[in-house]
Amino acid sequence: MSAEIATKGRAILETLVAFDTTSRLSNLALIEWVEAYLANFGIAGRRVPNAAGDKANFYATIGPDVAGGVILSGHSDVVPIDGQDWSSDPWVVTEREGKLHGRGTSDMKAFIALALAAVPLFQQGRRPVHIALSYDEEVGCKGAPDMIASIARHVPAPMLAVVGEPTSMAVVTGHKGIALHEVRVRGHEAHSSLTHLGVSANNVAIGLMHELMELAEALKAQADPDSPFTPPHATLTVGIMQGGTASNILARDCRFQFDLRCPPGQDPLAILAPFMERVAAVDAEIKSRFEECGVTIERLSHTPPLTPVADGAAEAFVRSLTGDNGPALAVSYAAEAGQFARAGFATVLCGPGSIEQAHQPDEWIALDQIDKGAAFMVRLAERLAERPADRPEER
Ligand SMILES: [Zn+2]
Repeated sequence: MSAEIATKGRAILETLVAFDTTSRLSNLALIEWVEAYLANFGIAGRRVPNAAGDKANFYATIGPDVAGGVILSGHSDVVPIDGQDWSSDPWVVTEREGKLHGRGTSDMKAFIALALAAVPLFQQGRRPVHIALSYDEEVGCKGAPDMIASIARHVPAPMLAVVGEPTSMAVVTGHKGIALHEVRVRGHEAHSSLTHLGVSANNVAIGLMHELMELAEALKAQADPDSPFTPPHATLTVGIMQGGTASNILARDCRFQFDLRCPPGQDPLAILAPFMERVAAVDAEIKSRFEECGVTIERLSHTPPLTPVADGAAEAFVRSLTGDNGPALAVSYAAEAGQFARAGFATVLCGPGSIEQAHQPDEWIALDQIDKGAAFMVRLAERLAERPADRPEER
């Protein structure tokens, strides 16, 4: 049975990868395909669209409409291929040396494909599977919260959620949160030799970035030797900076983005409070020189962390399916699991493929990971088909 699901999952993966669902594009073609696929089994789902109507989350219940089911969650979007050197078409799954190459193969369309392949098995369950697909995960987990709220409202209480990020099928119980911010500085242009006649937005921004780098060092110094995270502390990095038009002009505009990734228990807003005060002070200072000058800071996203739960029900259940009895793992990338957990769902990360192959040119998933993912789906279906009385601990 498992081999059959793997083969079918592989065929579905080819279809899903062929939809270019880079986050900046619409994901509706993929969602429509999934809707049509499920309609073949008599299953209808629910779309949760974005405000513009050009993207949508989608979820559907497979099996009886009862409590105690399992959410299988995946994001439909992928990161861009821009500037990456690929050996084969990123949108065509290509097998080489036991690996399937293509954008999204590991992160995370294989998980979705295998869940869809197992739909006929899930239909035989006494408890349901809820397949939940989000958009805009890769740009700050922006899509999922609306879907999670809709699931909480419309779906009889699920037992737990599995977010199928590529963990090589290990059970991951914690991830860091991300607070992403953009700082924009408006200066006053003048010849670069006449610094008293203008304000360089770049110089102001560099001063602020320097403060952030000192904060990053301070966070590193607070590393917790017992932390399950690598690195074992909050990190702060500047991912984008843009400013200026010529070397001999005091820059009028500069902007930069930074992300602060905190382990559970550290509050990013509290950590950034002194920096916010500094931004306000610099804003006032340069405004007093030229009224059009100023500094603004905008929070682009704030993804909550996933806090490991000691002896958590989701961890025990998923471990019993995968046979994973290794140590509890935590990862430093953020995912939607923290959002599911915040909504009250017991949640873990577990999916085929490795995060090390994600976001890379020639992204790939090993065929044996497809097999392991298929085996997971089969065991999940078997488990949900058992009489609840057989598993009193899951009631
Ligand atoms: Zn992902």
